Amino acid sequence: MAKDEKPTRKTIKAALEMNKIMSHYFYEMDNAVKTGCKKIAWCSSVGPAEILRGMDFLVYFPENHGAMLGATRMSTELIPYANARGYSPDICSYLTSDIGAYIKGLTPLSRAYKGIEKVPRPDVLVCNTNQCRDVQDWFSWYSKELNVPLLAVNTHRGIKDVNEFHIESVAEQLKALIEPLEKISGKRFNADDLKRSVALSRECSDLWKKVLDIASAVPSPITFFDGAIHMAPAVVLRGTQQAVDYYKLLYAELSERIKNKQGSLDNERFRIYWEGMPVWGRLRDHSEMFAGLNTNVLASTYCNSWVFTDFDPEDPFASMARAYTKLFITRSDDAKEEYIKQMMEYYKVSGIIYHDAKTCPHNTNCRYGMPQRLEKLTKIPYLVINGDLNDLRCLSDDQTRTNIEAFIEQLEENK
Ligand code: SF4
Repeated sequence: MAKDEKPTRKTIKAALEMNKIMSHYFYEMDNAVKTGCKKIAWCSSVGPAEILRGMDFLVYFPENHGAMLGATRMSTELIPYANARGYSPDICSYLTSDIGAYIKGLTPLSRAYKGIEKVPRPDVLVCNTNQCRDVQDWFSWYSKELNVPLLAVNTHRGIKDVNEFHIESVAEQLKALIEPLEKISGKRFNADDLKRSVALSRECSDLWKKVLDIASAVPSPITFFDGAIHMAPAVVLRGTQQAVDYYKLLYAELSERIKNKQGSLDNERFRIYWEGMPVWGRLRDHSEMFAGLNTNVLASTYCNSWVFTDFDPEDPFASMARAYTKLFITRSDDAKEEYIKQMMEYYKVSGIIYHDAKTCPHNTNCRYGMPQRLEKLTKIPYLVINGDLNDLRCLSDDQTRTNIEAFIEQLEENK
């Protein structure tokens, strides 16, 4: 390849369909607020969306909005407005950029979707603390600001083995959501509707898992950066037929690549596992940088966080409790290390990159010796890069590139 020639990263054709369903998703909520035809629930990203969908709420996810603020690079300028209200620059930069956007009356939705001026106003806020405490603080702020009820499920964290005690405790809290949600929606709970939404979520999750698992092929037909974009329906539309149909389409396209022995990169010299969150404002730059180094960052813990193989429509509350408690983020370091070790073997990687995200300790697993322990166990080398999901002041692009290039040279020498 000539020196100045850009390496090819294959684009995913199904993205056009994803853009359509995401557009429909946002316009439907905007219309519901304007006409009052349906109630809106805000939900944390691994909160009980199935219950809300089963009770006919349209469901909006502030974390998805946070990621959009990051990806459009609006966040760094908005964070200080939340800091001025007492929310530290050291806490979740989804929270601070989203509250900053609210204070300034801005949203990337109005740039992407003509006619949408603001995020949909909620009738209820529902969160689960399985991922972190920040979501509860975030939702509490809106609850007071908008005078809207907040319902929270509290989940144990740092769990080594998930047992019946954990499941019962969370399942009871999930059941306790029904009564207040009936009052807010004005509709009676229907068990069959919940079963249907859990069944659709399970189907979506199984298909999303197949999409991610396909990266074990050599060469991989998908990158982590593709996954970070195409996970949107698994997050915001799980429990709907649109998400199921979308992942069938995406999986078919990726399977075709496998059949034709096509990788997502022209030359996949190295395979890397990504541990931690993406740097949303640098997604494209990172994707291009790794492609230029003939390196496929092909799998991550993060994208796998929306795989819920425990969902069972015949036992909706207990199975939701199990799925939302077995998440990687709620687990002890022992359980996390076992999981990452299995993933590195499954995806046949020759290195792992840990993203130390300044404002999200919950999705950062390199601060207490895990990289060193796993390297000793697996002999797979690691690199830690400093950065953040949304606050671009927390990273140095030059430093990141220098460290990554040196890491790839190290892999080259080991080859
Ligand atoms: S897990 Fe991290 S990024 Fe997500 S809401 Fe919590 S602190 Fe923010």
